[in-house]
Amino acid sequence: MLLELREVERVYRVGGADVRALDGIDLALDAGEFVAVTGPSGAGKSTLLHILGALDTPSSGSVRFDGAEIGGLGDRAQSEFRLRRVGFVFQFFNLLPTLTAWENVAVPALLGGQSLARARPAATRSLESVGLGDRAEHRPAELSGGQMQRVAVARALMMDPPVILADEPTGNLDSKTGREVLDVLGALAKDTAAPRLVVMVTHDRTAAEWADRRVSLVDGKIRADTRSADAVAAEV
Ligand code: ADP
Ligand code: ADP
Repeated sequence: MLLELREVERVYRVGGADVRALDGIDLALDAGEFVAVTGPSGAGKSTLLHILGALDTPSSGSVRFDGAEIGGLGDRAQSEFRLRRVGFVFQFFNLLPTLTAWENVAVPALLGGQSLARARPAATRSLESVGLGDRAEHRPAELSGGQMQRVAVARALMMDPPVILADEPTGNLDSKTGREVLDVLGALAKDTAAPRLVVMVTHDRTAAEWADRRVSLVDGKIRADTRSADAVAAEV
């Protein structure tokens, strides 16, 4: 199992009261899965995504990556985990406006200590893998929304992480370009050479249906966890 949560709780203390954002989450997620996390506002979706990506730490319970506990890692080990093991995709792309597409894609390699020149071939390949090889020198303002999000996906892939976490990746796109981004995310999970775990938080019904597994949260608890028939069939 790539990522496994056991009895995870995340409690925020707000004005002397406890807010239980996650309340007893048991969840096992594997490479090859494209998972949608759904549920009403305040259900705990973002908190769950942050814990999966080691952006946040549970108040109690265990989070294992490839069998090793990551819930209690120190700051340094946590940032290393985020850099090498996880790619993040955001609703508003979070691209740097002054950098070209390939330079944006190279940013994680720079954080990992590489020079821009050394990172260039891998950044170019990553852009090609999302179908944007011909947009390498464009700046974000010169790209459509769907293209910007694909640049963001290419950036998430830059360090070749086994886990991709996306927060409302289609939330700022129309249905056609949203669909393109979902196609790319689904293909990353199903990549036969290197299957990945792709988890996206979404309010978009079509996006949730596009995923092969849907985890629905209510009040910090898992209310339903369903898999598409073909995803179940692929396992037997
Ligand atoms: P969702 O993403 O499903 O909208 P969140 O994970 O953002 O839900 O929030 C779950 C609950 O935790 C909500 O009640 C929210 O108000 C609370 N919460 C989230 N982040 C914080 C925080 N930093 N401090 C206090 N409460 C928080
Ligand atoms: P879509 O692909 O969603 O129809 P647009 O109609 O916005 O997107 O853009 C069409 C093409 O024009 C895109 O491939 C994009 O790279 C290019 N483009 C869009 N805006 C600009 C711009 N301001 N400068 C240069 N090229 C642009």
